[in-house]
Amino acid sequence: MTYDLAIVGGGILGLAHAWHGARAGLRVAVFERGTVASGASVRNFGMLAIVAQRPGPELDSALNSLDAWREVAAGAGLAIRQAGCLFVARQPEEMAVLAECAAGTKVNGQDFTLLDGAGVHDRTPGITDAALGGLYSPDAWKVDQRGALAAIAAWLAREHGVTFHFGAEVSEAADGRIVTASGEWRADHIVICGGDEFARLHPEAWKASGVTTCRLQMLRTVPQPAEWRLDPFVLGGLSLTRYTAFADCDSLPALKEYQTAHQADALAHGIHIIAAQETDGSVTLGDSHHYGAGAVPDDPAKVDDLILSALNRVVSLPDRQIADRWVGNYAHLSGQSLLRLVPASGVTAVTVTNGQGMTHGFQVAERTIQELTGAQAQSCVS
Ligand SMILES: Cc1cc2nc3c(=O)[nH]c(=O)nc-3n(C[C@H](O)[C@H](O)[C@H](O)COP(=O)(O)OP(=O)(O)OC[C@H]3O[C@@H](n4cnc5c(N)ncnc54)[C@H](O)[C@@H]3O)c2cc1C
Repeated sequence: MTYDLAIVGGGILGLAHAWHGARAGLRVAVFERGTVASGASVRNFGMLAIVAQRPGPELDSALNSLDAWREVAAGAGLAIRQAGCLFVARQPEEMAVLAECAAGTKVNGQDFTLLDGAGVHDRTPGITDAALGGLYSPDAWKVDQRGALAAIAAWLAREHGVTFHFGAEVSEAADGRIVTASGEWRADHIVICGGDEFARLHPEAWKASGVTTCRLQMLRTVPQPAEWRLDPFVLGGLSLTRYTAFADCDSLPALKEYQTAHQADALAHGIHIIAAQETDGSVTLGDSHHYGAGAVPDDPAKVDDLILSALNRVVSLPDRQIADRWVGNYAHLSGQSLLRLVPASGVTAVTVTNGQGMTHGFQVAERTIQELTGAQAQSCVS
């Protein structure tokens, strides 16, 4: 069987490439090792984080990707909720960054509202009483990270004629051939979207790029009482030094100094707080960041405790029982948000390297397919 486009990996990048490929008129197949997608795309917060982007090309990419999510969600019958995002300040240094950022919004086009302590409570009663204030933005959307991928794959098969090979680990992807334990297929183009898995297919190209892995610990509570809702994503002060949306604030160095002096343990484990309530009332919590192939903290339970104590500084959960804990990995390349390689003729490997593949994936895929179909047109002409 010959395809125009064979995609290795059924995570969000793989599905986004399949959608854009099918829309460009290509006959597309996706090869996924698991019986369902099993990588970062089903282990995250389901946050389409427009709010976290630096104005300019980054923000434009996230907004274009959001348009694609809306179209895909409408087609696949998925809910996509405009949850919004609330950054909560407990320290004057955190409040200073939020205030500066809010003051700059007319310049950079972001939609931010600065809130005092009472304003934070009016908006989101689940926030701890000790909050000094917060910064609210409507620009964050929530998808069901565990259910979305299966729904999109089913829709792509049904409405766009994409062929899915689940339970199909690809052992070779080169020279127009895709090889799995159960067979061999041919394809004009191969796009590898294996997330953080670089060891098996074209390892020498990945190695030369310097890409590595980031390991994150995540937790989920039991469902909270029905009357308790945490509508927006809630983030704390540790997030302000991680997201590029705040990178240009003059008040950031003072916050970094405060964190170095008072939050060294959290910094050592790359901890910042995101809390996201799911439709069943449970709250997804995270996360930590450990960089390097096979990097595992000495005491993962201590890392969970640090995440929970940072969370308790911003959110008052009525029920703190943890129902689920898991680890997710994504590809990481310092200072770079995307890695696109051509390890062999006819093969493109694509991975998002800043931990925001849910937010940017559709835009990344659109560009890959434009490049591939453009190249195809050129080779026909020559
Ligand atoms: C804990 C955590 C929280 C995050 N939160 C967010 C967030 O809220 N918002 C956001 O924008 N981003 C977030 N991210 C980042 C985002 O999840 C990733 O950037 C994105 O999901 C990567 O998608 P992917 O398709 O490239 O990789 P993956 O989702 O990892 O998918 C790769 C797939 O390829 C398959 N595969 C690999 N090798 C082979 C092979 N040889 N043969 C067949 N199949 C193969 C795997 O089984 C897997 O299903 C988070 C990541 C983590 C880990």
